Amino acid sequence: MSEETKQRIIELLSGGAEVSTRSAVEYRYPARELPEGAEVTRFCPSPTGFVHIGAIFTAMICKRLAGQTNGVYILRIEDTDKKREVEGARELIAEQLAAFNLQADEGLQADGTISGEYGPYVQSDRRDIYLTYAIDLLERGRAYPCFASMEELQEAVKDQQAKKLRPGYYGEWALWRDRTDEEVLQALDAGKKFVLRFRSEGSHQKRMQFDDAIKGQMEVPENDLDVPLIKSDESRLPTYHLAHVVDDFLMGATIITRGEEWLPSTPLHIELAQALGIKTFKYAHTPVISIVGAEGGKRKLSKRKDPEADVAYWHKAAYPLKAVKAYLLGLANSNFEDWYKENPDADLDEFEFSLDKLKTSRSPLLDMKKVEDYAKDEIARMSQEHFNKEILAWCELHDKTLFDEMMADPEYTKAVLAIERGGDKPRKDVAKWSDAPEQFRYYYDFIFDSSVMPKAQCDFVEEVDLNEQSDVCEAFMKNYDHSADKDTWFENMKKSAESAGYALDRKELKENPDKFKGGLADFAKIIRVKLTGKTRTPDLYTIMQILGEVRVKNRLS
Ligand code: GLU
Repeated sequence: MSEETKQRIIELLSGGAEVSTRSAVEYRYPARELPEGAEVTRFCPSPTGFVHIGAIFTAMICKRLAGQTNGVYILRIEDTDKKREVEGARELIAEQLAAFNLQADEGLQADGTISGEYGPYVQSDRRDIYLTYAIDLLERGRAYPCFASMEELQEAVKDQQAKKLRPGYYGEWALWRDRTDEEVLQALDAGKKFVLRFRSEGSHQKRMQFDDAIKGQMEVPENDLDVPLIKSDESRLPTYHLAHVVDDFLMGATIITRGEEWLPSTPLHIELAQALGIKTFKYAHTPVISIVGAEGGKRKLSKRKDPEADVAYWHKAAYPLKAVKAYLLGLANSNFEDWYKENPDADLDEFEFSLDKLKTSRSPLLDMKKVEDYAKDEIARMSQEHFNKEILAWCELHDKTLFDEMMADPEYTKAVLAIERGGDKPRKDVAKWSDAPEQFRYYYDFIFDSSVMPKAQCDFVEEVDLNEQSDVCEAFMKNYDHSADKDTWFENMKKSAESAGYALDRKELKENPDKFKGGLADFAKIIRVKLTGKTRTPDLYTIMQILGEVRVKNRLS
């Protein structure tokens, strides 16, 4: 390409502004002074307003790798696709990360400030830097303008498909790769739009190797695609490919931890780094998280089908995020679970994370039941004070009626929230703060005034004859003594059950089922549902003691 043509292209790319030289840019990014073995990691989401739980998984790995080697963990916002950008999404990312205790060492923080000396950390603020490198490639003959229209490109792909060839812009299908200077000048004179493309020197017939820190040794065909480096629109922003290589070079990343959807592009990124004369990176492609779908089969967690894919879901349900993160660490490293059992109160950052161990778990499976177990354990371990604070904070925001009831009698509420907490066998029926209404509402009278009956109660009314329900309550109240201790209370209940026609002895009930209306458990179940609207609750005696005599009488008579 003639010097004149090059200059015209550079002018169009830069809009006539002066473009820094590579050495001027690189001077601003000195080598980092870090201890031997320190990893510089980077988490690079696009601000689309949606943070995938898999991205948290990746961010967690980035933070651990940097943290445990005294390195640096960078948050870089990749906003070169302006069409997909959503307002407020950058801030949302920083907040979501902070909520998982995954705030970055460099880049945007949850409070809106920016840390670090290797910025800007938002790609659209780095446009001129990318142009420097794009122009460098042009000067070295490793980039060229392509004026092909969308229709022409689509036509080429159709042609390739018809000929059963690999689709893409390569070899003889690279429409503008070998055009003459005249053709390029003509297109420029006609004011045609162009993208700047990479000139690949690879061959699909040749194989290359690289070591992925998660996937292991890879052997794949070389890249031969002439991919776009700079877009054709006025923004003149780069594509992901150029931006990744330039940014990670300048920011001094030592390991590229990113989703495995980028694995196929890695040969291209290696070639691009080589073309720029920079050291190639170490890569670690993180696996996609799967779930067992409603259909039964294991499949990739889908943004469309699975609400759990969106981090917003975890926030909305209000899971204790430390537990979710602990669960994710367990998904990444199978030895985590034992470590956590031994160190339940330890800071999760004390766990020694290993990329090697992640190698063995190919596609981690998200098991919601297990997440809930982690969360229940976490909540059961919490101090009473912390627990009360979280429950009240959630109710204040999301269930004002319950919150007002709770605050109307703080001492009573304290007693309610303390039921069966602590001790050897603490209750484990709260997995997320949004479970609060279900677990605590029945201690307050307003739900019994409401015309809406709790579901368990509705089912029960249909299941057990109404007259029978009142007979059971009447029998129970006859022997009820609120001041009795637990053993006496139990004896009294047995007396009532027997008098109402319920068997105290299971064996007897089994042998003569027609002689009885049911067993003691059935009798207690009727009492439980009439008292709480639920079929499962903590211990009935304790509940009655907390509810107080008046409520027990009101509800059971
Ligand atoms: N912006 C890319 C994405 O969201 C990031 C890939 C990377 O980490 O380099 O997929």
